[in-house]
Amino acid sequence: MPVSQTSRTVPGRADVVIIGGGAIGTSIAFHLAEAGVTDVVLLERGELGGGSTSKAAGGVRAQFSDRVNIELGARSLEAFSRFGTRPGQEIDLHSVGYLFLLSDRKDVESFERDVKLQNDLGVSSRLIDVAEARRLSPLIDTGGLLAAVYSPDDGHCTPESVVLGYATAARRCGARLLTGTTVIGIETAGDEVRTVVTDRGEIETGTVICAAGAWSQAVGEMAGVDLPVTPVRRQVMFTEPLPELAPVVPFTIDFSTTFYFHREGRGLLIGMSDPDQDPGFHLDYSQDWLPRLSEAIGTRAPGLLDVGLRDGWAGLYEVTPDHNALIGRAVTPSNFLYATGFSGHGFLQSPAVGEVIRDLHLGRTPLVDVGPLTARRFSGGAVVRPETHIV
Ligand SMILES: Cc1cc2nc3c(=O)[nH]c(=O)nc-3n(C[C@H](O)[C@H](O)[C@H](O)COP(=O)(O)OP(=O)(O)OC[C@H]3O[C@@H](n4cnc5c(N)ncnc54)[C@H](O)[C@@H]3O)c2cc1C
Repeated sequence: MPVSQTSRTVPGRADVVIIGGGAIGTSIAFHLAEAGVTDVVLLERGELGGGSTSKAAGGVRAQFSDRVNIELGARSLEAFSRFGTRPGQEIDLHSVGYLFLLSDRKDVESFERDVKLQNDLGVSSRLIDVAEARRLSPLIDTGGLLAAVYSPDDGHCTPESVVLGYATAARRCGARLLTGTTVIGIETAGDEVRTVVTDRGEIETGTVICAAGAWSQAVGEMAGVDLPVTPVRRQVMFTEPLPELAPVVPFTIDFSTTFYFHREGRGLLIGMSDPDQDPGFHLDYSQDWLPRLSEAIGTRAPGLLDVGLRDGWAGLYEVTPDHNALIGRAVTPSNFLYATGFSGHGFLQSPAVGEVIRDLHLGRTPLVDVGPLTARRFSGGAVVRPETHIV
């Protein structure tokens, strides 16, 4: 019987309560429990991974435009490559590289700068010419392209497997992960959270961690913490099996239109952002994006117009005003931590973010300095350069 149909109540007390059971929440639960914080309770109102994580295209990369995102991406790539032994789960990692196709002079200049920074931080990305881009990704038409950037260690893997791996290992280490349990309130006393209120009872706790993805603003409000996260629908679709498809297809992105594709089984997964998409919790798959998508495909990969396309699904990006994540500890209540607002990069950053939140909780210095990602930057704090590798 599904958990949600039982009359189970929640434990009365926990050292740490994590709200949200996606890639971020389960990674945090694993990293805490592995470090010996065993009295951890994770609350997920649906199924584990059932939020944005199961809708992700699975892209993993370290190609970003600033230090903190590059470091979070690179550290996570390393963890994904060892996922079979720690936490111990097959995740179908395809290290096929990410290929950004550039058709605007200004983008070439900014990607050139970004590659320099990435190389300085140990990422092996490189600017390549159009002919090499076509050799790497033969489906593309190079008309109008000026250059491309390729990073061979990037790729894609399966989000549900990552959640399964973290959740299983967290439980093995003693964490309790409860599905079908909705957080409906957070009670504070003085400067601290004392109690998390759920539809199955109350939990007294010493620490609350918000990993509620696109729904984080509401969770923040329960504790009086401003987490400016806006939900925006994103869609993907699939081609029929393509008999001539190369065995290795990089995660290919036409940067000016955001049209992208990668190999999925014997066909391709295709995606693109829709600039006309209104913010909000729209989760229905809509065909409104097809005219714009077809135009982008016609320009960049016209051969795909002749193959059968199948509907995919819609999910939510969790967008902040500068497209950078919110990671840190609130001033008040001081036992409220948050890791959210990844603006479309949460899956690929989940391993490193789990480590960072573990270290913030334990009072250690995190391996990656996430100071710039404090939510306080939107209330007059430090200004962060907006992330520009937006797809
Ligand atoms: C089409 C699409 C493609 C994408 N492609 C990529 C990609 O290639 N690479 C990448 O890195 N990212 C990608 N993303 C973004 C990625 O999916 C997210 O950044 C990531 O999944 C965020 O993980 P999360 O754990 O923070 O959130 P989620 O997976 O959404 O988890 C949050 C959970 O919190 C739960 N929750 C919320 N409120 C409550 C409450 N009150 N009580 C209990 N539980 C609650 C929700 O049910 C949800 O399961 C894509 C997203 C979409 C939609």
